[in-house]
Amino acid sequence: MVDREAGTAERLLGRLDAGVARTLDRALDERELGGEEGAALFEVHGTELLALCLAADELRRRAVGEVVTYVVNRNINFTNVCTKRCGFCAFSRGHLEEEAYFLPLEELVRRAREAWELGATEVCIQAGLPPRMDGSFYLDICRALKAELPEMHIHGFSPEEVRYGASRSRCSIEDYLARLKEAGVDSLPGTSAEILDDELRRRIAPGRISVADWRRVIVGAHRLGIPTTSTMMYGHVETGRQRAAHLALLREIQKETGGITEFVPLSLVHGEAPMYRTHTVPGLRPGATGEEVVKVHAVARLMLYPYIRNVQVSWVKEGSKLAEWCLSAGANDLGGTLINESISTSAGATNGQLVPPRELRRWIYDAGRVPAERTTTYGIRRVFSDPANDPLEPLDEAAEHPERFGSYFELIHMDRFRFQDTYRPADGGRDRLEVGRVGGWRLEVGSNLQPPTSNLEHRSVARG
Ligand code: SF4
Repeated sequence: MVDREAGTAERLLGRLDAGVARTLDRALDERELGGEEGAALFEVHGTELLALCLAADELRRRAVGEVVTYVVNRNINFTNVCTKRCGFCAFSRGHLEEEAYFLPLEELVRRAREAWELGATEVCIQAGLPPRMDGSFYLDICRALKAELPEMHIHGFSPEEVRYGASRSRCSIEDYLARLKEAGVDSLPGTSAEILDDELRRRIAPGRISVADWRRVIVGAHRLGIPTTSTMMYGHVETGRQRAAHLALLREIQKETGGITEFVPLSLVHGEAPMYRTHTVPGLRPGATGEEVVKVHAVARLMLYPYIRNVQVSWVKEGSKLAEWCLSAGANDLGGTLINESISTSAGATNGQLVPPRELRRWIYDAGRVPAERTTTYGIRRVFSDPANDPLEPLDEAAEHPERFGSYFELIHMDRFRFQDTYRPADGGRDRLEVGRVGGWRLEVGSNLQPPTSNLEHRSVARG
């Protein structure tokens, strides 16, 4: 016989593990969760997981209400050539590879202008680190874009790129940030964070920017009044403790500067990731499970509340169905329309390279929430309330013929933007991008003409 009383919703939740219940109560009392508490929440399943989502949903409501935002933007990944070889990155190519491309400044500006005419308010500029790059190249990009489109928000240059620009310019990170600001950069993506733990970073991406330098770029940007986002890539070799420590570090930075606009969890897309294909990283997992994706959004909301107000779920990584779920587990933003998504697509993601605004709004309506278009820094541009009369916008119409934007796979096979033909290194001499062979591996000279150190050796060896 069914014990109906024991099955009431209240009683179901009354069966929660006492430790988890205490942690959730503390979060709902708006007390800061410690690293151990955060780590323990990454282990929950079943009823405890549902209770975690309920708590995260409640804190989301207190932080930002029922509105779910998105931004109309375009990604411009102007080159896939990179002197580094991060183990998770399927996007980068060596400069002599057939699929190496480089978009000249005129093409960057053309893409930005086209996006502006279709209603975009942001361009997101990130790319590989091309060898012997002129240190002022990132500044030139900003100046060219601002000259043509003064109102377009430039969200560009990861901490790794800022450090590279500074090193190529022989100036400090802080000086380079000031130059970027003067040239017109409006905000920085807080990417190249993965998990902010140097030992782990050495395992999955030796030569990657250190935790100290990542922090220095982010805090330096905030001190100059340049806001940044914050990210975490998970689903590889990290532990729950490392995830919680990463979130606690972001929270500390935000308490100090207040310059972080959002937190974006990014689950590993493993299919084409070099470290997955070559089995070179012991213990590597094939990305996060669906349950982990939901948990990460929920724990992030609990640990970052109330300091970082916005938690974004990435449709590129998670697809629309899981993204909708995350909206009930602490998330309040769906990111951008992107138009030309390349990074996850190259790694094997199949969720598309563009989602038009009307489609993003449909997902938000489907989740029972209120869609709003935002600026990059979370100013609300328009709130929508009537799914039956949802407007058709220029980008919605253009998205019916996405071939006009060109795809990532077309780009890497196109003669027109082949790196060897379009790139001009700092000294103008392409022949100085030397190459040699060591066994079956190709040795490329990267940005620094110095005797190889162990780090430099790593980053200059490409898959042959
Ligand atoms: S993730 Fe690493 S390898 Fe890929 S483009 Fe960025 S720095 Fe280069």
